[in-house]
Amino acid sequence: MVKSFPATGDGVKTRRAAKEEASTLVKLLTESAVALSHTDVDMAKQQAALARRVKLRFNVRLDPSLRGFTCRGCKGLLVPGVNARVRLGHGKTTILRVTCADCGHVNRKIVKRP
Ligand SMILES: [Zn+2]
Repeated sequence: MVKSFPATGDGVKTRRAAKEEASTLVKLLTESAVALSHTDVDMAKQQAALARRVKLRFNVRLDPSLRGFTCRGCKGLLVPGVNARVRLGHGKTTILRVTCADCGHVNRKIVKRP
């Protein structure tokens, strides 16, 4: 069966609006989860999981400033001081190592190159 999309552009516009709405919702949910993580970790994790579901459903990206709050290993919420340990490594390059307390994955981020 061939799925038809209206050629009028009406459907496209609606989908774009839904995507924009989803994008703001994901941003709000993630910000809320980070703020809430200091008091209620379980609720914050639920919010982060919901944000991820919305993100995948509508194929939207998370705001770059909030990308650091997601673990690359377990895709869960990652908040330094709550469920993450931050260490700074000085070698040839300066690397920020954020270790997830939930799955143990080390999220590395290059801070400064020589
Ligand atoms: Zn993790």
